[in-house]
Amino acid sequence: MKRNFQRVAIANRGEVAVRIIKACEELGLETLLLHSEADINSRAYRMATKTICIGPAPTAESYLSIEANIRGAIAGEAQAVHPGFGFLSENADFAEACEKAGLVFIGPAPESIRQLGDKVHCKSLAKSAGLPLVPGYQGDDQGVDRLVNEAEKIGFPVIVKAAAGGGGRGMKLLHSREEARDLIESAQREARSAFGSSKVFLEKYLDRAKHIEFQIFGDASGRVVHLFDRECSVQRRHQKIIEEALSPSLTEELRRRMGEAAAAIGALGRYRGAGTVEFLLQDGEFYLLEVNTRLQVEHPVTEMVLGMDLVKAQILTAMGEYVFDDRQMRVPRGHAIECRLYAENPYLGGIPSTGVLGTVEWPEGPGRRFEYGFEKGDEITSFYDPMIAKVIVWDETRPRAIRKMIRTLRDSVIFGVRTNIPYLIEILSHPEFVNGVMTTRFIENNFPGPLAEPELSPAEEALVAFARKHRPGAAAGGVSAPAATPWTGFWRGI
Ligand code: ADP
Repeated sequence: MKRNFQRVAIANRGEVAVRIIKACEELGLETLLLHSEADINSRAYRMATKTICIGPAPTAESYLSIEANIRGAIAGEAQAVHPGFGFLSENADFAEACEKAGLVFIGPAPESIRQLGDKVHCKSLAKSAGLPLVPGYQGDDQGVDRLVNEAEKIGFPVIVKAAAGGGGRGMKLLHSREEARDLIESAQREARSAFGSSKVFLEKYLDRAKHIEFQIFGDASGRVVHLFDRECSVQRRHQKIIEEALSPSLTEELRRRMGEAAAAIGALGRYRGAGTVEFLLQDGEFYLLEVNTRLQVEHPVTEMVLGMDLVKAQILTAMGEYVFDDRQMRVPRGHAIECRLYAENPYLGGIPSTGVLGTVEWPEGPGRRFEYGFEKGDEITSFYDPMIAKVIVWDETRPRAIRKMIRTLRDSVIFGVRTNIPYLIEILSHPEFVNGVMTTRFIENNFPGPLAEPELSPAEEALVAFARKHRPGAAAGGVSAPAATPWTGFWRGI
C-alpha cells in the first residue's frame, strides 16, 4: 500500500535522532523532533525542521510516554513517526496508537512486534517452525518450586531472564540448586519493577558462546530477506560494546543456514522493515536468542559492507515503495567495525562521566564514519544512556579495519567528559579480539576490573595542570565548570 508523507516525527534523541534526520533529508522529507526539556542543547534539536517539547527529562514523562509522543506528533503536523531504537521502538501499543491516530509507524506492524518481539512468544513460534532454541523452560507456571525443578532438569548453570526484559537487564545466572530459589525470586521482583511483569523464563547458560545476529528486512512486497550477519560478542554485562560485519567466525555453510533461519522467522512474523534475529553460536551449533523488532544500534556496520542506507530503506518501505530486486546484488564487501563511545571513566570501572562538552574533533578520513548527537557546548547529563557517539570504520580486510579503528579512536578529541576510548583501544589490541575468537565472556575474562591509569610524563603532568587551570569557568572560581578531563582523547590520543 502506498502511503505518502512529508514530515516525519522522531520519537527519540541523541545520535539516532540525527541519523533519522539525515535519512529524511536525503529523501527531501521534513522532520519534527519530539524531545524532552533536557535535550534542547543537542545536535538533533538544531538539525530538525521543527521541534516540540513533549515533557520533562525523566523518560517516563517524555520519551516513554505514548500519549505525549502522539500528541506532539499531531501538534507538529507530522504524518509518520520513526521510533529509533530503545524507548518506544519495540512497543506494539505505541505502533498501534500511531496507526489509530492516523500516523504511519515506520517499523513493523503491531502484530509482528507482539509475535516476534515478545521473547517467549517468539520462541514458541520458532519452535513450531523447527528452529534451534537454547534448551530451557518458557512455561506459564511461574511458581518458584516449579522453576527451581525446571532449572535442575536443564542442568546448571542456568540463566533466568525477564520475559519482558531487554537491553541486557533483568538476567541472573544460577549456578546451583541451593542458590536458585533466592535468585529466581529476586529476578521476579526486579522484572516486576523494571518491566511491569514478573514473568521469567529459563535458559541453559552457554559458557563459551559467540553472539551472532542477522539483519533481516521485510520490503513493501512482503518479502523478507536477510542482509548478512554481525558479530557482537564483545559485551560488558550483556551489553554490546564493539560490533562488526561480517562475523569472523562463520563458515559459508553456517552463514547460509543461519541466514535462512533468520529470514524464515521474519517471514513467519510477516515482518516489515528492518529487524534483527539474534543467535548464540557454540561448538558449531547455533541457537535462536531473540528477535529485535526495530533498527539496531549497530546497523551501520551492515550498511558499510553492503553499501545500503537502512534507515532510508525503512522510510521508503513505510511509504510502500521499497522492493528488493533480484538483480540487485546484495554482496558484502570488506569489513566494518563499530565502537560504542560511552561518557564514562574507564579508570574507575566505567562510572558515568557527565558535564558540558568542550572541543570535540572527529578525525574524518576514508572509510571512517561518526554518528554523534552532541557537540561543543552541549551537556551530557545523567538522565539518559551514557552512549554519546559511535565510531564506525570500513576497510578491505578485518586486520586493516582493526588498525583503522585504533588510529581513528586515537585521533578523536573529546574534551569535557571522560570516555571509554582507552578501554576500546585495549580491547581492539587484545590477541583474542585480533584473532576473532572472542566469546561473550571476553570482557569478564580479560578485563575484569578498571583500567590502570596511564603514567604521565612530567611534561604531560604540566600540560594537564595548565589545562585544568585554564578550563572554562576556572577564572570565575570554576564551580560550574565541567569536571576537568583534559587528557580524554588529548595529545596522547588515549
Ligand atoms: P537482551 O534482550 O536483554 O539484550 P538477550 O537475550 O538478547 O537479552 O541476551 C543478551 C546477551 O546475554 C547475549 O548476547 C549473551 O551474551 C547473554 N546471554 C543471553 N542468554 C544467554 C544464554 N542462554 N547463555 C549464555 N549467554 C546468554
